[in-house]
Amino acid sequence: MKTLCADLGGTRLKLAAVENGVVLENEVTPIDTNAGMERVLENLTVRCRAMMSRHAGEWKGLGVAFPGILDEAARHVIYCSGKYAGADKIDLPKWASESLGLEMKLINDARAAIIGEINYGSATGETDAVMLILGTGIGTAAVCQGKVYRGKHGMAGLLGGHFSIDFDNGRKCICGGTGCLEAYAGTWALKELAEDKSYDFQRLERDYLAGDEKAKMLFGIQAKALGAGAVSLIHAFDAETVIFSGGGSRFAALLEAAEAYVYEHVWTPWGKVKFIVAQHPEDSVVLGLHSLFVHHVC
Ligand SMILES: [Zn+2]
Repeated sequence: MKTLCADLGGTRLKLAAVENGVVLENEVTPIDTNAGMERVLENLTVRCRAMMSRHAGEWKGLGVAFPGILDEAARHVIYCSGKYAGADKIDLPKWASESLGLEMKLINDARAAIIGEINYGSATGETDAVMLILGTGIGTAAVCQGKVYRGKHGMAGLLGGHFSIDFDNGRKCICGGTGCLEAYAGTWALKELAEDKSYDFQRLERDYLAGDEKAKMLFGIQAKALGAGAVSLIHAFDAETVIFSGGGSRFAALLEAAEAYVYEHVWTPWGKVKFIVAQHPEDSVVLGLHSLFVHHVC
């Protein structure tokens, strides 16, 4: 059973052909998200048709992951923080049906990632888990008792990056809030804290391991922020498992320090929280999209 899986990111479009949980082909191209959703769909139509022609056989559907707030049941974009202008005005299922002859399903990208890790990745079989995706921002999602948590407005579980962890002298966040987790732990915040635009998780890891004093200070802030954020997610969603993904999850010492903070501060009389690191974070979203046509955890 084959599906097309499109992950519309902040700066790039990832398109994959997936058959029975195996990624047959993966294509990543930069996209101008400021050009508007209609232009993005023109680009996506061409790429989908080309990929379908390269793999013979029947296609079950197209899964689309979007970095915003969605009505997933209605397959409609509600809000996407200034990018993909006009996405909320477009009938996406109609576009997919008319342009590609495919049924389309739509899901938030962090939610797709946790589903992909549970159905095909490093978190197989987990039923009560939260995910933190360490990137430009901190994306989160939650699965409770085997079901992805969505909530009345489709936002439940997604805003863990905007849990406030410092209300007194908290940093201003891009969401309008104060002291949010991602205002300390996202790479946009890391650049500000370092007063250096070249700073990211790789740079932090390199400088930290070399014993650089500024990197040690930033490491301490990030580890505590991620730990405090994870504690709040565990408490909010009664999670047994924390899954780390995204570029920052490759920094093992940072995750270990965050985990130590969690064990010191979390309240879980039922037992001990388990930590999992996504082994192939680059595939988790597309495998989650594939799951929408196959699995029950979605
Ligand atoms: Zn925020």
